Amino acid sequence: MVASRSARERKAAAQAGPLAKVRIDLDDEEQFVYKIGCSECTARGHRSWSAYRPGEDNGFMAATDRWIFHLVEQHPGADAPCLAFLPAAEQRLHERRAQQDEADPI
Ligand SMILES: [Zn+2]
Repeated sequence: MVASRSARERKAAAQAGPLAKVRIDLDDEEQFVYKIGCSECTARGHRSWSAYRPGEDNGFMAATDRWIFHLVEQHPGADAPCLAFLPAAEQRLHERRAQQDEADPI
């Protein structure tokens, strides 16, 4: 369990790029909790930014999606392997919004 967690952490950190600080914790139910923090925003003394999502692969995907949007909006010059997933992240965002509209019609 510990080895697989650190392997996931390394893989996630490699994808998230040099600005990200990736940590994976275990919650009370032994589920992975993915945390991605922005080292540049923290270093600048801005409100520190992080995405924090529980869950297995869904949690990883949700945290990475938020991280991708943060990079695009706050650090347009930054390079990270995960930026290749921007179109997929946008697609998922649209799908989530569409689902919410359906669940809660105004
Ligand atoms: Zn940042």
